Amino acid sequence: MQKALQEKIARFTDAEQVKNLGLYPYFRVISSEQDTEVMIKGKHVLMFGSNSYLGLTNHPKVKEASINAISKYGTGCAGSRFLNGTLDIHVTLEERLARFTGKDAALLFSTGFQANLGVLSGIIGRKDYLIFDECNHASIIDGGRLSFGNVLKFSHNSMADLEKKLKRLPGEVLKLIVVDGVFSMEGDMAKLPEIVAIADKYGAGIFVDDAHSLGVFGENGAGTAAHFGLTDKVDLIMGTFSKSFASLGGFVAGGFAVIDYLKHHARSLLFSASMTPASVASALAALDLMENEPEHMERLWLNTEYARDLLLKEGLDIGNTVSPILPVYIRDNTKTFLLTKYLLEQGVFVNPIVSPAVSSSDSLIRLSIMATHTFSQIEEAVTKISQALKQIAK
Ligand code: PMP
Repeated sequence: MQKALQEKIARFTDAEQVKNLGLYPYFRVISSEQDTEVMIKGKHVLMFGSNSYLGLTNHPKVKEASINAISKYGTGCAGSRFLNGTLDIHVTLEERLARFTGKDAALLFSTGFQANLGVLSGIIGRKDYLIFDECNHASIIDGGRLSFGNVLKFSHNSMADLEKKLKRLPGEVLKLIVVDGVFSMEGDMAKLPEIVAIADKYGAGIFVDDAHSLGVFGENGAGTAAHFGLTDKVDLIMGTFSKSFASLGGFVAGGFAVIDYLKHHARSLLFSASMTPASVASALAALDLMENEPEHMERLWLNTEYARDLLLKEGLDIGNTVSPILPVYIRDNTKTFLLTKYLLEQGVFVNPIVSPAVSSSDSLIRLSIMATHTFSQIEEAVTKISQALKQIAK
């Protein structure tokens, strides 16, 4: 191996240090379906780290749709949407998503990450400005990096800072405010009504990443803009299928013209293979369930309120969450790792969020609630978290 590469690799010791302490919490191998209970190393473990908010990854109708799509279309499209990789079901899903989000048109990508990369770098050019919340997802940050434009960051949910940044910019240039609808670590929401007012004042466009809001907020789970009744004020709504939609892939929805522009400028769409038939079909089946069976979303909220109340009763610090993402702030990296390991031993899977994803003083374990959790699973998890925290404090 080249010496410089060897040296670079040798300098990366963070993971090794955590492994040496026996606390490494990543790449845990699951040998079952993504359900409220999973199998890890032959043991049943309660799953509180899954983004399958509506619990549809193993719904019989979703599985069946996927299997039928493989029977009809095979396992892959062997090409990009632009060339040989557009199936009739890709177009159907795009039309359905446009209607679902209240927009003219939609465009599928192979992942949500690729949607953000392609859309943001496709729109923001040299003289343009992308202004984003500092807690936005990594794919938005990377989309900004890939663009040749000017990227500005504002303090989390600080409307004063957003306005300060916009005030300084020239009047006529393209300015796009980009926010997560629901923030993936903290579980709080973007202040969309205020953002809309500021965007109007300074002539900026708005892009909302609704990865964690679709299936969760708005009528039938149509997302953040629908929740606030501001669909017409948001230019672009981005979503992923890796959460409530129980599949893999992503999309962006907007006006006809901007979607057509992106069809010819988003490089992660043009130069990457299209979504597999099975992924499209499972997303379509999940969308059917969202539109026709509101009980999944209702159950998700019942569970979320139940878990939230129990965590608060235990005196735990859950920050400003208003969603099924329930952070428990530990505010110390090592303790967060310890707690995650201890909980897994007790049969509860949670995700540790430590620096650099958040600053060490904001480190947390994140519980994600699913519609399919039972109250007794939630009680067990909260009791074990509380006990584990007492154990660690000793
Ligand atoms: N945006 C947000 C806010 C996310 O949380 C994620 C996934 N963690 C993505 C985009 C990327 O989506 P995908 O998993 O489909 O690549």
